[in-house]
Amino acid sequence: MKRTEIIAVGTELLLGEIVNTNASYISEQLSRYGVPVLYHSVVGDNAGRMKEAFELANRRSELVIVTGGLGPTADDVTKTVLAELLDRPIVRDEAALATIEQFVRSRGREMNAGDRKQADVLSGSEVLANPVGLAPGMWIEGDTTWMLLPGVPREMRSIVDATFPTKFSGATLVSESLRFYEIGESALDEAVLDLLEGTNPTVAPYAETGEARLRVSARAETEQEAREMIDQVKEDILQRVGPYYFGSDDETLATSLIKALTRLNRTLAVAESLTGGEVQSMLTSTPGASAVFLGGVVTYSDELKNRSLGVSLDTIEQHSVVSKEVALEMVNGLTALTGSDYGLAFTGEAGPTSNSGQPVGTVWIGVKTPGGVDVLERRYPHQERNVIRTRAAKDGLWALIQQIKKGE
Ligand code: ATP
Repeated sequence: MKRTEIIAVGTELLLGEIVNTNASYISEQLSRYGVPVLYHSVVGDNAGRMKEAFELANRRSELVIVTGGLGPTADDVTKTVLAELLDRPIVRDEAALATIEQFVRSRGREMNAGDRKQADVLSGSEVLANPVGLAPGMWIEGDTTWMLLPGVPREMRSIVDATFPTKFSGATLVSESLRFYEIGESALDEAVLDLLEGTNPTVAPYAETGEARLRVSARAETEQEAREMIDQVKEDILQRVGPYYFGSDDETLATSLIKALTRLNRTLAVAESLTGGEVQSMLTSTPGASAVFLGGVVTYSDELKNRSLGVSLDTIEQHSVVSKEVALEMVNGLTALTGSDYGLAFTGEAGPTSNSGQPVGTVWIGVKTPGGVDVLERRYPHQERNVIRTRAAKDGLWALIQQIKKGE
């Protein structure tokens, strides 16, 4: 497979006005075909610097994909700079011109010089039709092969989607991201240290608020072969750290909990203070949640905790609103209110300053199952408000998953 690099053209990118999503899209698509991408670079709409960037790419890569600067305006110089470097004249492509004309007329306009200029291509290019815009892409075979794509993301994507399957058949790269909870990133790394050195499949660690991931990627002739290679490594990993695994790729803690409750045919309700609805939002983002999730309440004030969940104001006064006792009364009140089989209740101090008198980062989570009630204490010292809230939400979901596992 060709050693590839991606060059994004546009001063807006250098100024930070737009994010280089084109490069990430192209890279992601290339990885599906097992094409190794070795460099990403960005260059402004400046002919001199573009020439330097193109010369470097021409020396070091076998395939260079350029996005942006194909438009009709004076600062769109990608084509002229490359034409000079490859010593190929720019010619007008009649087929592209006809397509552009049709496109322009369909929008009730007459052709202008700028429109016509977009049909100019490097001679000898394979012209890649742009079904959603004007500037076509180009594929120019050579010692180094060049692919030119428009900068407008929708146009770039439509050309990529139409051409990559035919340009890059052969090796396929398949990945699966294994997701873990409760095990710290370093403990996870340590458990799989030998696997991190593998080259095919590769295993790469990532961390996310409270979670750790291992991305396993395999390259093979067919998708099925790659899948089998991944499954083998996955089995090995799960033998070592299986108890912390909750799902792969898009599966979240909420998905895992909803699956478990669906298996049991049991219902869940949630009462939230510091998480302000985040837990319920995580649950309802999962398709199929309605089969088991009844709903819940966000009780931010003491008064509402009292009125809707029956938390005693005396308990709040005596123990503080951030306390084991309040979490317990919240979860009991919640299941009485909703009739759910399972309940989760969250109260805590998210900071940045403490209103409850409890240290910032203190969280109490009430977990109710048909077997009984448990209240967990969690402390997230020196964490930002939203990290504390998200960690608390995830810890609650995880705790219930564990309870269900124990009971199964
Ligand atoms: P056109 O032929 O339609 O004028 P072009 O090839 O000249 O397109 P640019 O003028 O470079 O493309 O970019 C058009 C718009 O596309 C930019 O204003 C920006 O919003 C978006 N864009 C360009 N490059 C990127 C990129 N690398 N990532 C994300 N968006 C981009």
